[in-house]
Amino acid sequence: MQADFYRDTWVEVNLDAIEQNVRNMKNHIGDLVDLIAVVKANGYGHGAKQVAESALHAGASMLAVAFIDEAISLRQQGIKAPILVLGAIRAADIELANKYDLIITCFSIDWLMEAGNACMSHGIQLHIKVDTGMGRLGVREESELKKIVNYVESSPHFQITGIFTHFATADEDEPSYFLTQYKRFQQFLSFIPHEKLLIHCANSATGLKFPSKLYNAVRLGISMYGLSPSVDMKNSLPFTLEEAFSLQTKLVHVKKVPKGTKISYGATYEAMEDEWIGTLPIGYADGWIRKLRDSEVLILGQRFPLVGRICMDQCMVRLPYELPVGTKVTLIGKQDTQKISIDEVANRLDTINYEIPCMITSRVPRLYFKGNKSCELINPLLTNMTIES
Ligand SMILES: *Cc1c(COP(=O)(O)O)cnc(C)c1O
Repeated sequence: MQADFYRDTWVEVNLDAIEQNVRNMKNHIGDLVDLIAVVKANGYGHGAKQVAESALHAGASMLAVAFIDEAISLRQQGIKAPILVLGAIRAADIELANKYDLIITCFSIDWLMEAGNACMSHGIQLHIKVDTGMGRLGVREESELKKIVNYVESSPHFQITGIFTHFATADEDEPSYFLTQYKRFQQFLSFIPHEKLLIHCANSATGLKFPSKLYNAVRLGISMYGLSPSVDMKNSLPFTLEEAFSLQTKLVHVKKVPKGTKISYGATYEAMEDEWIGTLPIGYADGWIRKLRDSEVLILGQRFPLVGRICMDQCMVRLPYELPVGTKVTLIGKQDTQKISIDEVANRLDTINYEIPCMITSRVPRLYFKGNKSCELINPLLTNMTIES
């Protein structure tokens, strides 16, 4: 029995969906283009290690994270694949990066010189980040790129093994800014010997839309998790994306209340007639934020409304009739023919789908499924364990 979470709220992550999305993307981009699985932010809230293993199994050849801590965590969990740290690391941490055999992003000559001074090891791998229009991180001028190349040529500490950029608008219908960035990237490449480099510019949107503009690799994030990079792209995807993430809870208390009964903080909801009210053990401290009041949940394949304010740990649902305590309630995911998608929740919150699984906090355990069977449970509050099958 799975005995290591005791509150009936959990995330289910379907690792078969992750693998399917990776395989479909590999088919789409062709054998000559590598797939870098982006597992930053705990695998967009799904679980970095589990997603990494599934992606590698399905054909990814490298992983990417934002910060060095995320990379070290993967190494500590036994991940041996190449890991690229996309964000800026402190120059002083360059030896640490080398200890964990990480590929580091070089984003300026000043950073490089400082890292060189802090460095004793040899041959540390760098990917140069060029800023072609995102305005976030990276080398902006050819002169600076040349200084970096010259510095590395005369330094034993580093080797340049890749160069990359990031697009600001690849997910939008209008391609002109994307094409300007793409041209700028081509110009940068002409200033550096690049025959042996891993050249990558594509996020999910670029990989899906422009399979002929990928150079050597795609950095696949959001669509590995089965989500469309934007609403614009949803109706023109080259293959079906399978959502891996769902959020489940159960009724823990069910009661009949008379007409006029108030529900939750502020007493803002009032029963219009005699009503059945169910209590769910999930609240804003789990990421089910107060703005989601009046949203819907699925019970027995039908939609029912949350009522009253969402509390820190609990919220209430109006039921059509008495339902037993223990009945499963789906906040994100499918029941029978009904589905509450991550896109629906994002739309309700006026945000993008990326934010939704990231928002569900680590208080909610993650239960992993492979071949329709649960295979692993992560509950950071308690000790981790593998379910014996
Ligand atoms: C997060 C990130 C990605 C992944 O983008 P998606 O849109 O999720 O595919 C790729 N590259 C960089 C530099 C990133 O920061």
